[in-house]
Amino acid sequence: MISRNTPMDPYDLVVFGATGDLAQRKIFPALFRRFCAGQIPDEARLIGAARSNIGNVAFRERLSDALKEHAPRRAADPSSLTAFLARVKYVSVDASGNKGWEALSGLLTEPRVRAFYFSVGPRLFGDLARRIHEYGLASPLTRIVVEKPFGNDLQSAEQLNATLAAYFKERQIYRIDHYLGKETVQNLMAVRFGNMLFEPLWNSQYVDHIQITVAETVGVGGRGAYYDRAGAMRDMMQNHLMQLLCLIAMEPPAKFDPDAVRDEKLKVIRALDPVAPHHIVRGQYFAAAGDPEPDYRTAVDQPRSSTESYIALKAHISNWRWAGTPFYLRTGKRLVARSSVINVMFKDAPHSIFGEEAGRHANLLSIRLQPNEGITLHVTIKEPGPGGMRLVDVPLDMSFAEALGPEGGDPPDAYERLIMDVIRGNQTLFMRGDEVEAAWAWTDPIIAGWESRGDVPKPYDSGSTGPGDADLLMRRDDRRWQGINP
Ligand code: NAP
Repeated sequence: MISRNTPMDPYDLVVFGATGDLAQRKIFPALFRRFCAGQIPDEARLIGAARSNIGNVAFRERLSDALKEHAPRRAADPSSLTAFLARVKYVSVDASGNKGWEALSGLLTEPRVRAFYFSVGPRLFGDLARRIHEYGLASPLTRIVVEKPFGNDLQSAEQLNATLAAYFKERQIYRIDHYLGKETVQNLMAVRFGNMLFEPLWNSQYVDHIQITVAETVGVGGRGAYYDRAGAMRDMMQNHLMQLLCLIAMEPPAKFDPDAVRDEKLKVIRALDPVAPHHIVRGQYFAAAGDPEPDYRTAVDQPRSSTESYIALKAHISNWRWAGTPFYLRTGKRLVARSSVINVMFKDAPHSIFGEEAGRHANLLSIRLQPNEGITLHVTIKEPGPGGMRLVDVPLDMSFAEALGPEGGDPPDAYERLIMDVIRGNQTLFMRGDEVEAAWAWTDPIIAGWESRGDVPKPYDSGSTGPGDADLLMRRDDRRWQGINP
């Protein structure tokens, strides 16, 4: 399969927070890979900006180490690495003061697409937007990219939207949710709307329930202070799992264009019912015997923390398509395997001609987002051999890597795609302001309920599938979670 890279016109890209973790680990490695793919034209300007008072040489040395660690295959070619580093300039700029802004303006002179990536703490988003404006760096061709978290509740998200709206139009604001940049997440739309096979069955008449699992093996890492304020609900459910839910449940948009897609996603969020407290299970991990990693509470340095590192819930979408079909969502840290998967469980056939002994056989469509991206459809067939009619379920398994060959097997990282979409001016895979607000409007009462009840998360062992109560949530409905497999 041939890789198709659309040539790009020259542009300016400024990464604020260039010395930080996200920029060094994700953004610059993504740019480096795009550079190697020929998508960074000679006239394009890449500028890193942060507070640290360092020069180009020191910044490039640091970046070189980061690229060797996070884009090792490309960085193994010294000529590509040197050529890329030579393209990156560093400017010391204070987002909340005036230092460095004149120097930055001096580099940005041509009228062309100019993107500012805000890879800094959210408290600086407003400052950056204001100063970009005050220093005359914004034009109708300017775009800003805003990292998560976008607010920590509805009120703060509304405030942030209003602050950004004072300086930029909605079409200039790119709220990033890197999940949407994953190849397989976009494949959800391709599978649903590119095939006649699934869509007629994609409703409560045929779908018994849907499970969305995003399981991580990692703990909170170095983000303990942030994570303990956020928890799994704010950090994962309100954004990543919500986006997956939208893509799996939305109506077909009239066309694949940013507002058509985002309008349909917004309708899903707005149709979500409030979640009853007994339909939610919160968990917090404890180190299983022999686990060298600490408990959650030790990791975040809060011995009495009641923040959840795991959440499972049952959601309902009140519309014609989905009335009566529950959506079970779960996500957690330090679980048994790293696995993001959507399982669409179809209903049993209405009548079994094979009799009771053939058992119950329901089709299951599994869409694996990571790792080992692909689709498995479990179909029922006759068990081979003489004698009675015995039925078995077998997987029709398609791994995207195998099906699409070497090119398809090495998909671009989410950040590569998303940054290039910003430059192209395509907002389809970015969240609109009203979408983010609607997601918070659904999330806030859930969190407020825990706070008012003094809810304490259930303990679970690291390396497990989460707290036992999450299994109970399913068993009460005579259902069970699919396994969490690597
Ligand atoms: P970080 O490692 O703490 O880096 C913060 C960056 O901001 C540093 O480059 C720092 O520069 C710069 N900075 C701080 N104050 C500044 C100021 N007044 N003016 C200019 N630059 C300033 O944070 P991060 O982990 O990279 O996260 C950046 C953003 O991405 C945050 O909003 C975070 O929530 C979001 N995010 C991060 C991750 C992740 O995996 N890291 C994932 C998703 C979202 P100096 O060091 O030079 O002061």
